[in-house]
Amino acid sequence: MLLPLFQCLLNGLPLLSSGSAPPIRLRGYIMKDGFELRNSSGKGEGIFATKSFTVGDTVMIGVIKEVLNGNHSHASQVGENKFVLHDGLVTKVNHSCDPNCGVRENETGAHNFVAIKEIRVNEEITFDYAMRNYIIDYFPQKCMCGSEGCRGRITGWKDLPDKKKKAYEGFEAPYLLELDARGSCAKVVGYT
Ligand SMILES: [Zn+2]
Repeated sequence: MLLPLFQCLLNGLPLLSSGSAPPIRLRGYIMKDGFELRNSSGKGEGIFATKSFTVGDTVMIGVIKEVLNGNHSHASQVGENKFVLHDGLVTKVNHSCDPNCGVRENETGAHNFVAIKEIRVNEEITFDYAMRNYIIDYFPQKCMCGSEGCRGRITGWKDLPDKKKKAYEGFEAPYLLELDARGSCAKVVGYT
């Protein structure tokens, strides 16, 4: 599988780590180490930083593993009616209403996670599922993110307040903006 390796090269990532942590090999290609799967208190598994990141850093590189026929709980929405499964640990990143990462589509159409805040070692890596999915179908009504500004439930872009959309500018899946531009985005819905 040459494409992901080529993708890493395109993104300028070193194939050999210059630090103490060795690079990880995932399904035949090498990704820069900087995160790992751990238990996240009260939320099952989560992804945690094993190095610090500054704003604008690419924290995780998205690689599409499979194009899906429809939505499911680990699917990433990459178009109005297009869902994919990302490879590796990208699917394990938890939602937060006050995330430290945003979504940035890469050259392959997959979603990278980019730091929108400083991320310290051992901090959980999170993004807002609304940055990626227009509608959320598969998550419990009650959001468990625990952030101060928690919206109370995990919502999709469709139900995201305009103020929050503005705050996420540049860190959302591009198709969401296309939907908004077409005027098909629903009005802001109040949270009950
Ligand atoms: Zn929340």
